[in-house]
Amino acid sequence: MTRDQALAADAADPLAPLRLQFQIPDGLVYLDGNSLGVLPRSTAARLQQVINQEWGVGLIGSWNSAGWMAQPQNIGDKIATLVGAGPGELVVADSTSVNLFKVLSAALALQREDAPGRRVVVSERSNFPTDLYIAASLCREHGCSLRLVDSTDEIPAALDADCAVLMLTQVNYRTGALHNMAALSAAAHAAGALAVWDLAHSAGALPVALGADGADFAVGCGYKYLNGGPGAPAFVWVRPGLVNRFVQPLSGWLGHAAPFAFVPGYQPAPGIARYVCGTPPVLAMAALDCGVDTLLAAAALGGMAALRAKSLALTRSFITLVADRCAGHGLVLASPDADAQRGSQVCLAFEASSRAGQAGAAFAVVQALTVRGVVGDFRAGAPATATAGGLPDILRFGVTPLYTRFVDVWDAVDHLRAVLASGEWQQARFAQRGAVT
Ligand SMILES: *Cc1c(COP(=O)(O)O)cnc(C)c1O
Repeated sequence: MTRDQALAADAADPLAPLRLQFQIPDGLVYLDGNSLGVLPRSTAARLQQVINQEWGVGLIGSWNSAGWMAQPQNIGDKIATLVGAGPGELVVADSTSVNLFKVLSAALALQREDAPGRRVVVSERSNFPTDLYIAASLCREHGCSLRLVDSTDEIPAALDADCAVLMLTQVNYRTGALHNMAALSAAAHAAGALAVWDLAHSAGALPVALGADGADFAVGCGYKYLNGGPGAPAFVWVRPGLVNRFVQPLSGWLGHAAPFAFVPGYQPAPGIARYVCGTPPVLAMAALDCGVDTLLAAAALGGMAALRAKSLALTRSFITLVADRCAGHGLVLASPDADAQRGSQVCLAFEASSRAGQAGAAFAVVQALTVRGVVGDFRAGAPATATAGGLPDILRFGVTPLYTRFVDVWDAVDHLRAVLASGEWQQARFAQRGAVT
């Protein structure tokens, strides 16, 4: 692909107008929407209105008149349309980490009743750390253990008679590898386990079918592909047939059946509403609502299926351009090459034997790209241990089909080629690390 061909692909792209929904700095190639989505144009005005009118003038009456109290359900119903859930099945609340605590507690409690001998949670060593930290903490509390596998192929064998829960993130944050939710949920069920899914890198990035694919519990993130803003609230879904069987442990008043009865005893609300704990963060909810609307705007243009097709065309172009234009620098693809197994990101690593394969190179290359106006990110690897193989440092480039263009991909790879060919990344200034990488 030439740069002119990339421009022609953008000109012919029926989804291209969706980019106009966002305020993206001129000249910036932003490939980090999988970490923090960009700012929708509607958000600032909406927050002004919520602050000046609903809060400033309406004050406490806005809990009813402006629909503040219904935000968890109303925004939840919108997100439900993106992840294959029905209306009234999903709520927005708290953070992904906190929601994972709730659903994993529920899954372990259900299994304690149905199959008390099952005391193992199966997950992947490469899962996002917060998921593993929360699972390890709950396992300690419930007298269970966490069994981590090193590859997807090992999951079926790990689902034995001791397994209570299979807890997976649908798209791996380090590699972009996409799990087959239907097959793995079915394998969990066949083994007598429940399936808990984290959609942090899949909700808003690709079609998700929670109901049809047999998930039992799911959580997801508001600030990545949903464009809800830094620290946006997260969401939680439970299969309707299971939701009323357990009271999740964060039994706050807004998950009560009648919060304004102010009775001393807790009575859970029916359905998913019991997964709300306390008062919704109204300003953050309004920003999330604007972000979710940017995805709903794609519905008339083919929705998540059309966004997925574009995402795959973008990541395929990225992979091909890197192979053609960055050859000889020891870069290898750390994401699956097969489209069906790749989420919406392209991850690269340096071969240990290459000139750039030394410690710190991947970080420095990402920094050099950032200074050139190409924002991706870096994810640290890990040395090999006695029990697990090592992981390489990763250069991670997320594509967000709502606003990433083919020319952005072309320019990003062109800058990557220049940074590698010139050795620019070896400058000392690119080795400085901030608190957030
Ligand atoms: C981003 C991400 C999270 C974030 O959790 P927070 O509670 O919002 O900090 C959790 N899990 C996965 C898999 C993620 O990618």
